Amino acid sequence: MTSSSTAAEAMAAAAARAQAYLEHVPERRVYPQENALRALDALCQQPLGAEGDALETIAMLDEVAGPATVASAGGRFFGLVVGGALPAALGARVLAAAWDQIAFNETTSPAAAQIERCAARWLLELFGLPEDSAVGFVTGATMANFSCLAAARRGVLAAQGWDVDAHGLWDAPRLRVVASEEAHSTVLKALRLLGMGVDAIERAPVDEQGRMRADALPPLDERTIVLTQAGNVHSGACDPIGAVVERARAVGAWVHVDGAFGLWAAAAPSTRAQIAGFEAADSWSVDAHKWLNTPYDCGMAICRVGAHLQHAMTATAPSFGSTAALPPREAVGSALTPEFSRAARGVEVWAALRSLGRDGVAALIERCCALARRFGAGLERLGFELLNEMTLNQIVATLPGREERCERIASDVRFSGEAWIDKTRWRGRDALRISVSSWATTEADIDRALRAIETALDGR
Ligand SMILES: *Cc1c(COP(=O)(O)O)cnc(C)c1O
Repeated sequence: MTSSSTAAEAMAAAAARAQAYLEHVPERRVYPQENALRALDALCQQPLGAEGDALETIAMLDEVAGPATVASAGGRFFGLVVGGALPAALGARVLAAAWDQIAFNETTSPAAAQIERCAARWLLELFGLPEDSAVGFVTGATMANFSCLAAARRGVLAAQGWDVDAHGLWDAPRLRVVASEEAHSTVLKALRLLGMGVDAIERAPVDEQGRMRADALPPLDERTIVLTQAGNVHSGACDPIGAVVERARAVGAWVHVDGAFGLWAAAAPSTRAQIAGFEAADSWSVDAHKWLNTPYDCGMAICRVGAHLQHAMTATAPSFGSTAALPPREAVGSALTPEFSRAARGVEVWAALRSLGRDGVAALIERCCALARRFGAGLERLGFELLNEMTLNQIVATLPGREERCERIASDVRFSGEAWIDKTRWRGRDALRISVSSWATTEADIDRALRAIETALDGR
């Protein structure tokens, strides 16, 4: 057979296979079996050049790679603060894939532009952020941190009378960066990419939950960027952002909030107080592919003074002029992101928010927190000690006196296929790290994971 299958046939075939995959996902192994992993070699054996039909290509992918996937779409994946894709968000992504829009600007895709504008409005409303903030739809919190820090660098230097876009950093006034020891590694990566090395970071001390201590900050000034965190990847704890912002405001420093998953705490009444004062910051990073449960790669860079984000991301070409020429409120697509050609990833954010509504987002956050507490209580019954206060959806647990066993327990549980949990080392102790972040997770999933941990404990 030659490549005569139409796009519609390919889509139908893929949809049927995806449907079968998803029906199976709640019950299947989470981590794939050894033979499924070995079978992946088949994908590469053919020398490139032999022509393959579209349907046969899709069939091969499904049959060979499908069994080797990690079931992170299901309810028993507890790693990395991520959750499986919500039905509406997944469907929207598939539809948008068929549309294949170039979400560059209004001219290349008016629909993508309008959908991103609408999703941006809903997000700002949900978080309670200033309605004229700029929202760039990027690939995740890494690029959101990068984009926001590019805006911060520009904004702080502009206030010093320095145009970093034109003159760069070489002769610029020296910037200062304040961050805690617990700042996420992607924040450090963003600083490196932006020409601000990590050795120059002034480290703020943290408390026992990994929260920046507002009372122990170095003195701030108008050339300082302060990097706060909403949602520590271990404890889930949030920095005292309100208190930090107060100090920063007094001297004209810029405050960024890395809220990859923790910013969603703002969307639920019972957790919102944990990040009180965050709305007075200057920029915010948040992931959609984590706690909003959209497919990857999807996150947002939000900037109070939209012009800083827009100008930091400016691109100019003969065909469209400069993306900086738009009024910031009209800027969409590539005018606010590092990418030039880009997917219409605002579509899945729009669909997730449209399908959940305000109450549905709050319920998702609160259900995950409640399930995490159930998980934590179960671990304590098994003899674990919880190292974090479990204010959100994160659990760090160790076996007192037998901490070194945590790594083996985590890998035994993964290889059992029953659940995916991680081992970590936090504040000098080896521990299990567990995150409950998926709409798909049920109480039964938690109990099944606990049984797998109990078995791993008994087995050694
Ligand atoms: C996950 C995470 C990031 C990185 O986000 P990606 O979406 O993986 O790029 C940054 N900061 C925090 C606090 C995170 O939890």
